Amino acid sequence: MKPASDEAQGRKVGDGQRHTNSDERPLIYTPEEALAISEMDFERYCRIATLSFSLELKRAALVELEHEVAELTMAVVAARQADDGELASRWHAVQTFIESQVLELRMWVALNDKSFEAAYGYFVSAQKYAAAAERWLGEFPPVAALVERLAHQETVLFPRQWFFSLAFIVDENKVECSICRTLASSCDHIPGRLYNGFEAQRILGRVVSVREISMVDNPSDKRCRVIDFGGIDPLTGKDRENTDTVNDIV
Ligand SMILES: [Zn+2]
Repeated sequence: MKPASDEAQGRKVGDGQRHTNSDERPLIYTPEEALAISEMDFERYCRIATLSFSLELKRAALVELEHEVAELTMAVVAARQADDGELASRWHAVQTFIESQVLELRMWVALNDKSFEAAYGYFVSAQKYAAAAERWLGEFPPVAALVERLAHQETVLFPRQWFFSLAFIVDENKVECSICRTLASSCDHIPGRLYNGFEAQRILGRVVSVREISMVDNPSDKRCRVIDFGGIDPLTGKDRENTDTVNDIV
């Protein structure tokens, strides 16, 4: 088995300019090269990201992946500075995929530490990042595998949750586009797509009223959940008044 070496940690994202690699670290020049390497590393991280595997190796893998995220962040910034918005978006898509792996590993570390609420928070974020990466990367088998694995983990690691979904009535004249900062109804930016390495979002300036609150199976935010069910947190089974007591939910 290949250990969690410093191989990935030694990887360095290039600035797009071929130059002398004075510290002998391999340089990555394109998002596609970064994806190819992440595909090679994917199975190794899958193996590490399980409850039984060494906590030390998980922490070492986290250092590797976080180092890579930092390098990718710099690549996004460099592409923006070079006025190459399309390249910035491709780098950001790769960065989002690696971040989803970071979040999954953090979830497993939190589970090892018996920090179940934190683990659930990391899980929700990992799923959100993986879904975004899948949207932006398209046909890339590791991201599809990660989305599938997270969906499976949700059913076996955490008890079923009850989610809320809120429907708002908003003032259309106060809804801005996060990219161009004009009225969302008057621009062509599509929410969820990347522009210059930024995801287009709608910014709600004013909520007129809440139309309804529904119980749903697939909410947009899985943190919006029932946290007190007869005094018990349905995620942990713990009495919310007395966190030392674990109760059964019936
Ligand atoms: Zn816009």
